[in-house]
Amino acid sequence: MLGAEEERLVAEVLRSGQLSLGPRVGEFERLFAQRVGARYASAVSSGTAGLHLALRAVGVSDGDEVVTSPFSFVASANVALYERARPVFADIDPVTLNLDPAAAKAAITERTKAILPVHIFGYPADMEAFERIASEHGLGIVEDACEALGAVHRDGTPVGGRGNPAVFGFYANKQLTTGEGGIVTLGDGALKEQTDSERNQGRAADMGWLDHDRLGFNYRLSDIACAVGIAQLERLDGMLSDRARAAALYRQALSDVEGLTLPCEDREGERRGWFVFVVQLPRGVDRDEVVRRLAAGGIQSKPYLPAIHLMSFYRERFGHREGEFPVCEDVAARSLALPFFPSVSEAQIERVAAELRAVVGRSRGHRVRAT
Ligand SMILES: *Cc1c(COP(=O)(O)O)cnc(C)c1O
Repeated sequence: MLGAEEERLVAEVLRSGQLSLGPRVGEFERLFAQRVGARYASAVSSGTAGLHLALRAVGVSDGDEVVTSPFSFVASANVALYERARPVFADIDPVTLNLDPAAAKAAITERTKAILPVHIFGYPADMEAFERIASEHGLGIVEDACEALGAVHRDGTPVGGRGNPAVFGFYANKQLTTGEGGIVTLGDGALKEQTDSERNQGRAADMGWLDHDRLGFNYRLSDIACAVGIAQLERLDGMLSDRARAAALYRQALSDVEGLTLPCEDREGERRGWFVFVVQLPRGVDRDEVVRRLAAGGIQSKPYLPAIHLMSFYRERFGHREGEFPVCEDVAARSLALPFFPSVSEAQIERVAAELRAVVGRSRGHRVRAT
């Protein structure tokens, strides 16, 4: 949601004439870092750009392996390839849908350089376990927190505040948006310096435009975008609680749909930062049929997420096939994202629930009769 404050701050940037590399960048970084309890933050042009620089920050390069989740948005795996490293997938936890620490540990080889857990659908990954594994094996950690702004770990640390490079995304569907954009939170000043430099063509902070002492990229975030981000941060609590309210309404409305798996409840002090509302249909229900029937009732839903290792690019490049990560594949085959936005009304949710109740019931009925 965008409002008058975003407009005011953007207009100020426009009037200032300094549209990039200006004062709003550092201000947004400081406010964001403060918000998640991180020491530093480095604003970048997208979540993907942030993940790329975060992998570089932990030293991933040619021939390395990065252990990560196959149940994620494709960018969290692609970024390893940007550095000529290989994403090595490990299966997920069937309840939280996050990378399973035991599976990740079993996937470690002598080439493994880092672990990249994803806080999928805003549910905090088990970072205590990953931090233990990483320190046992001398690995780096990068957290994909692109869906998890507002999430909290069981020890009370906000996601992004543990000191590992953690990456948030600000595309329009995220909890906080700058249109396009992202940020890397960091616990180490030297890595903040490296990340700031690499997003800006390898230029050191105190150097002229013409000398570049390392390889860089153009991953800068403009002052216009940062101004939007600053205004969004001011209203973040409200936006997060609107999402949590919508999720609670869904949970209540869907509680009686037989066989439906709802997003896991918060447990052991962990708190989800609500991003999407994804349910898993009962096994044997034809998901495409459910999507069609919901669409006929004017309700948009989407199979979400597909397993990364089964995408054609990953199959062809790495020879992945069905059966490698059974939990991920089962969940990916049954997952359905329902319409989810902060201002969704109780009546709208009731309609989604009624349609879903009817189509899942019918779909199950068909299946039973057919067998
Ligand atoms: C959105 C998202 C990204 C990428 O963010 P962009 O800003 O679109 O580049 C990466 N990982 C996950 C899990 C995401 O949801």
